[in-house]
Amino acid sequence: MPTDHLLPEGLARVMRLLQRLPGVGEKTAQRFALFLIGEGRETARELGHELSDLASRLRPCDRCGNIAEVAGEGETVCRICTDSRRDSRLLCVVARVQDLIAVERSGAMRGRYFVLGKLLSPLDGVGPEELPLPALCRRIESDGVEEVIVATPPSVDGEATALLVARELGCRQVSVSRIASGVPHGGDLEFADQITLGRAIDGRRPIEG
Ligand SMILES: [Zn+2]
Repeated sequence: MPTDHLLPEGLARVMRLLQRLPGVGEKTAQRFALFLIGEGRETARELGHELSDLASRLRPCDRCGNIAEVAGEGETVCRICTDSRRDSRLLCVVARVQDLIAVERSGAMRGRYFVLGKLLSPLDGVGPEELPLPALCRRIESDGVEEVIVATPPSVDGEATALLVARELGCRQVSVSRIASGVPHGGDLEFADQITLGRAIDGRRPIEG
C-alpha cells in the first residue's frame, strides 16, 4: 500500500532523490531520510553543504578520467597524473574510477591510469566508437607509454573491451597485456581482495590482438 500520503512532501522529495543512488531502494531511502531529520541533523547540514558544490569542485581528470579537484580555469588534472614518482611508461586501462581505486589499493601498479568510462557492450548498444580510444592513443603518444595493462573486469564485456584495446594499439610501439585470471569470472575488481588483484596484475599476460 503506498505510504506517500503519510509523508510531508519535503521528506518524500528527499526520499525520491536518495532512491536515485545506486543500490538504494525505498526502505533504505526512508531510513536515511528519517535519520537525517532526526539524530543525523548535523550530518544533513554537512552533507548538504558538501553536495551543493560537489559538481563544480570535482570533475574527471582531463588526462585520465580519474576524479580530480578543479583548480581554476586551466586543465583539471588528478593527483596520480601530477605525481612525478609514477612511471609514465606504464599505463593501466580500467573501465571505471572504482576499478582504478581497487587497482591502486593493491599497490601493484607503479604507473598511471586511463579510465574508459564504459565497456564495449554490443548488446547494450555500446560500440567501439563510444569508447575514448583516440584519447587513449594520444595519451600513449604524449607520455611515451611502453606498456599498457588492461585491467577490465573478467566478464564477456570486459574481455571484448581488452581485445578491442589490444587491436587498436596493435600497430603501435607498445606492448599490451591483460591482468591474469584470479579475479573470478563475472566478478568486479572493486570487490576483489588486494592480494588477489595484486597477483592478477603481476601475472599479466600479453594479449594477441
Ligand atoms: Zn589523471
